[in-house]
Amino acid sequence: MKALVYHGPGKRSLDEVPKPKIQAPTDVIVKVTMTTICGSDLHILKGDVPAVTDGRILGHEGIGVVDQIGDSVIGFKVGDRVIVSCITACGKCENCKKALYSHCLNGGGWILGHLIDGMQAEYVRIPFGDNSLYPVPKGADDESLVMISDILPTGFEIGVLNGHVQPGDTISIVGAGPVGLSALVTAQLYSPAKLIMIDLDDARLEVAKKLGATHTVNSGSPDAIDQIMAISDGVGVDVAIEAVGIAPTLELCQEIVAPGGHIANIGVHGKPVPLHMEKLWIQNINISMGLVDTRTIPMLLKMVVSGKLKPKQLVTHHFTLDQAEAAYDTFGNAAKEKALKVIITA
Ligand code: NAD
Ligand code: ZN
Repeated sequence: MKALVYHGPGKRSLDEVPKPKIQAPTDVIVKVTMTTICGSDLHILKGDVPAVTDGRILGHEGIGVVDQIGDSVIGFKVGDRVIVSCITACGKCENCKKALYSHCLNGGGWILGHLIDGMQAEYVRIPFGDNSLYPVPKGADDESLVMISDILPTGFEIGVLNGHVQPGDTISIVGAGPVGLSALVTAQLYSPAKLIMIDLDDARLEVAKKLGATHTVNSGSPDAIDQIMAISDGVGVDVAIEAVGIAPTLELCQEIVAPGGHIANIGVHGKPVPLHMEKLWIQNINISMGLVDTRTIPMLLKMVVSGKLKPKQLVTHHFTLDQAEAAYDTFGNAAKEKALKVIITA
């Protein structure tokens, strides 16, 4: 079969590789119908994730059709359409029982396209299929479902829920990439009064306005902090969500959060970040961070089926698996290409 394979920092190619086989009775083999590329795949290609080794098939988001099931799989049968969670979970260990699926103690967590072969391929092996797959509901469009594997639950769980977004709040989100925009659309489920989107890229800020941002601020402008403070009535924001993953943006969140507010960090940080405890302690600030559990997938699916969420709006480009390398070129030059999510169809 064809698959997009990582060959060390900066190197990837569309290769012919063996089709995956059932290895454990809980495995499900899925024929991939639609997948996409994540910012994390670009981190891997830069060499930022050394656990990914030469020969690994990338990708952890997408949908498909069950092709084979292991002997103990009870929730799915051959031919079922499924959504793959980016987090694999045994469903039985102590952490899975707490819905802390990202820290599954039986070898789950974020493994797909990381520690085991991923979804940018014709077929993928999903361990613990009963707990790592979700049936495709009637009435949802495929491209929206692909956004439910990772970015929508990430923006919602790690940004909106961890940030305790409340009705009437003033929210800022730093980073208008697919994850920040997912936080933007799911924050609106809680009717915040003001939603300030912050980025360096004016094109992405325009998209944010269409998706419901009440205000946008280009953080490259010298008076960005003054602008945000003015929008938030001089007191700062109730919830500052970070969706970039670098020191300056988390420091910005620390400057603009109001007393009693929340800083919800979503970004993946590769370097230490200054945390100004000397200023924050007396302000009663809560800070949260984490790897997504995807425990909200069932709820998000209902919102997509009902049309309350339309994550398909994040899709900007379409490719076939044969064109996977071109898809990486486009996604890797997101600002120039005005790319958000690229869809790769089998
Ligand atoms: P992305 O690279 O597409 O978006 C990041 C955005 O930040 C871009 O629009 C960029 O213009 C903007 N940006 C860069 N520097 C900035 C600055 N100084 N000020 C303001 N904006 C700036 O990434 P994404 O796919 O949306 O992901 C966002 C982050 O979330 C990444 O760090 C990613 O690794 C992380 N992530 C975390 C989890 C999790 O479980 N916690 C899951 C998935 C992704
Ligand atoms: Zn991802």
